[in-house]
Amino acid sequence: FDSKLDGQVAIVTGASSGIGEATATALASRGASVVLAARRKNELEALADQIESAGGDSLPVPTDITEEDDIDALVETTLEEFDSIDVLVNNAGVMLLEPVERADRENFRQMVEVNLLGLMNLTHAALPVMQEQGAGHIVNVSSTAGRDANANNSGYSATKFGVNAFSESLRQEVTTEGIRTTIIEPGAVETELQEHVPDEEIKEQIEDGFLDSITPLQSEDIADAIAYAVTRPQHISINEMLIRPTDQQ
Ligand code: NDP
Repeated sequence: FDSKLDGQVAIVTGASSGIGEATATALASRGASVVLAARRKNELEALADQIESAGGDSLPVPTDITEEDDIDALVETTLEEFDSIDVLVNNAGVMLLEPVERADRENFRQMVEVNLLGLMNLTHAALPVMQEQGAGHIVNVSSTAGRDANANNSGYSATKFGVNAFSESLRQEVTTEGIRTTIIEPGAVETELQEHVPDEEIKEQIEDGFLDSITPLQSEDIADAIAYAVTRPQHISINEMLIRPTDQQ
């Protein structure tokens, strides 16, 4: 690895598992001090220990991104400890797939609050810091579902279309201030995401049918793409990356 991110500070949400965990590790291995945000404190602390043993620097900050107080505390704690926010990876997300007619409204609410509103609010909290610095990079983890809606992913897809719209609007507002934005759109990645699908029929279709029929991406594949985007020279802004398993149609 290299030290392209030496001296930089990155916040990664959803760092307790999957893509967020791999991204935190990838950024730390390139020299960034990484603030680890998610709800599961034990997982964050275990990751912080791993990063530290590998010679990296990180700070676990237990955070529920549906809570505005937690979001503000995350930004404040980061600034107290490290003085800047150079990279924000908005990665936390839930995928509670259900057909609309059987959907639980609480699941609609949770997807909007975590995948979309949490991302919007944390961006809102971190942006003034980046504006003051005159530089910063906001990476928003969307999905192929942010480009194409399919049966049974209505709520999830709605949040990811929202992420893409929010990100593009933000890009136009702040790009001339030196603040870069990147939308990451993964296809199927083997993580815990599918385990939380509430509809047993859909969950089975994904886990036993779809994922078994392809070679899914691993979290590290997405982390690698994020690391690429945030290590480009300042004049290059990778605005969007769509990454699918080769055998996913
Ligand atoms: P995981 O389930 O492994 O990770 C989801 C992360 O989000 C966890 O770290 C979880 O931490 C965190 N999270 C959930 N709710 C909250 C909350 N209220 N506050 C803070 N953190 C929260 O799945 P992935 O790694 O796959 O998902 C990461 C992102 O990638 C998501 O946005 C997902 O939509 C996207 N994605 C994933 C794909 C896939 O196939 N896996 C494909 C396309 C996009 P905790 O529970 O500790 O709070």
